[in-house]
Amino acid sequence: MSAPSILAKNLRTIGEGLCLAARTGARTWDTLVRSPYRRTALGMVFAVLPISVAISAYSLYPSDAEQEARAQQTIIEDSLPIPSIADQINVVTSNEMLTTHTTVIRRNDTLSAIFSRLNIDDAALQRFIRQQSQAQALSTAREGVYVQAKVTEDRKAQSLTIFLENRNDDDPDTAVNIVRHGSRFTIDSSEFTFETQQAMSAGIFSDDIEASVVATGVPEEVARQIPIALERKIKNGLTLGAGDEFRLIYERKFVGNDFVRTGKLLAISVSHEGQTIESFWADDGTRNGGFYNLDGTTNQIAFIRVPVEGARVTSSFMPMRRHPVTGVLRPHQGTDFGAPRGNRIFAAADGVVSRVAFDHDGFGHYIMIKHDEDRTTLYAHMTRVANKLKVGDHVKRGDVVGFVGSTGLATGPHLHYELRYKNRQVNPLKISYPDKERLTDEEHQQLLAAARPLTGRLALLNRIQSVKPLNAPEAVAQQSESGKPRS
Ligand SMILES: [Zn+2]
Repeated sequence: MSAPSILAKNLRTIGEGLCLAARTGARTWDTLVRSPYRRTALGMVFAVLPISVAISAYSLYPSDAEQEARAQQTIIEDSLPIPSIADQINVVTSNEMLTTHTTVIRRNDTLSAIFSRLNIDDAALQRFIRQQSQAQALSTAREGVYVQAKVTEDRKAQSLTIFLENRNDDDPDTAVNIVRHGSRFTIDSSEFTFETQQAMSAGIFSDDIEASVVATGVPEEVARQIPIALERKIKNGLTLGAGDEFRLIYERKFVGNDFVRTGKLLAISVSHEGQTIESFWADDGTRNGGFYNLDGTTNQIAFIRVPVEGARVTSSFMPMRRHPVTGVLRPHQGTDFGAPRGNRIFAAADGVVSRVAFDHDGFGHYIMIKHDEDRTTLYAHMTRVANKLKVGDHVKRGDVVGFVGSTGLATGPHLHYELRYKNRQVNPLKISYPDKERLTDEEHQQLLAAARPLTGRLALLNRIQSVKPLNAPEAVAQQSESGKPRS
């Protein structure tokens, strides 16, 4: 496609997007296409296209299967400025064709691999980065850090930004900026704050839930959160499947005009066998928050964080420690909760007892509970296991499974507790699983306030989705006036 025709198509689809917004009467919605550039790049026009095309699909005549398939894709972003035509023309006519590439640093990454994902071939920049302590996150490949580069056609980086997000909310996030000036580079760092936009998508599940969601343009990391958002409902028998309609809202994070990364799944609604199933993200005091119903009850399997009464943490989760009895350095990946002998120990979540055993040289009296395919908990050094508890028994969250003791290798009475995910031990005090069944009143009020606009948007998506089978624009207009789907 030539540049002018891309421009024309882009402008046309923006127009159609606007038309549709007007027709569906979505007055509160500035249904618009974001202009994700300041310093101009043709590649960004391409980036805009899927969004505008998706919106415009509804105002076209879906005459065949392909049209139907396209109509299932919806991404709408609100509160965004309309890109000016002058800017659009600048994009296309700019001499400096820069494309923006973003990647996240992976475990065991190398600078060369990161450069290759950023489409950079720039030995001078590699050398520069290796010499800069400020750019350490890149040269030492710190996992999870986002990196963005503006790259010329001959694959030289015009600029490169490392986004150092602080895990602690109180500390500011820092962006390290490297800029090319001819054959030289400069480096500096500055604080940054993400601007968070909401993106929406709607479609119909196929047999492969995740793939069908990703096919509507939703990033994988968002699609992967769906089974978590509906975890408890799925555990209680909900079977999502082909034909179910889904609508979801998730976060997209920008710095200036540049999209950097996807954020949380905020809300999902699924129409399943005539029922509407919903789940909303809420801040529940855990690091990553959790998914809840509007009544404040959890949609996840909630693990009691400290499953013993009267406890204090005496030994925290760490990869290696010297054993207090044997003096041998060995992995210790559970958490030790010191507590008076005889205090009750609780099942951290619903599950099935998978082991009841005695290990004289280690865990003493201990039990294991399997909670689902992936998660198991272990409770050790008990004086005794609760009466008659045996392998295969179903336990409920909070059921007494044993009593604090010091059997096996233990210096004093404590609960040695392990939470294993896919056979790997995770720190029960730091995991992102919610630990409660219901939000506090304050958290619940916050959820309701946050969910109000989201439910409106889900309803809008529902309307758009139900427009899909109709064939004529007049029908679209009628449908939105009546506010009810025609069948
Ligand atoms: Zn221990």
